Amino acid sequence: MDFVVEKCPLDILKLPLVDMDRSLAYDAVNRVLVIVRTEKGYSRQWYDDIFRECPNELKDSKMCQEAYVINPELALFMPEEQISYEMVLELSKNRTSFWNGFGLERIPMKYRDYTICQNYITRISGINVKYVPDDVLDQNLCNLAMNQNGNSFGYIPARFRTYEMCLQAIQTTSVTISWIELAERTPIQYQTEEFWDAYHIRHQYFNRYNELDYNIPSRCQCKQCKNKIYTK
Ligand SMILES: [Zn+2]
Repeated sequence: MDFVVEKCPLDILKLPLVDMDRSLAYDAVNRVLVIVRTEKGYSRQWYDDIFRECPNELKDSKMCQEAYVINPELALFMPEEQISYEMVLELSKNRTSFWNGFGLERIPMKYRDYTICQNYITRISGINVKYVPDDVLDQNLCNLAMNQNGNSFGYIPARFRTYEMCLQAIQTTSVTISWIELAERTPIQYQTEEFWDAYHIRHQYFNRYNELDYNIPSRCQCKQCKNKIYTK
């Protein structure tokens, strides 16, 4: 293992970690982290990679605190007991890297309070509404999610879907859910002529934009489709 640490430190994580080797592995990973952090020719990106890939059971508080100073986003790759609320609060305030994904799903449940959830929704992505605990989610968070990203609609529970949201979703949703699904998720009392007109227009637009030729679903209840039925 010493040979690996000296000659090709980035390969350290390719070594099998058996129980006997745990303390050796811990020393080795720490030494590698020091090397990539301090030696010329190694980038911080490599430090991040090694920290991320390192098995969680080797990450103690010393290693985690060092990592947090170097890159606060590494908190996402720490064992839960090493993550503090303050770390999560900082993360929630910044649009973070691609590692973060939508973000909230990587945050321990015990820290997903109103402030953290609202920050993740408004500052990172409305899609995070999907990961808000049931007892925290309310109408305001759902509205904020829709304002941030129309594609959040699919993750908003039926009891929080307003008519405006349904219309907005039909007018703006692109990829997350299909048109049919979208209509099915819309409560029947909201399926007005206005709703179906927007549905029809969006469907045509989608076809044109993607050079596709999907038929307008027969259940479309817009003015145009209804009239066709009557004139046949
Ligand atoms: Zn129609």
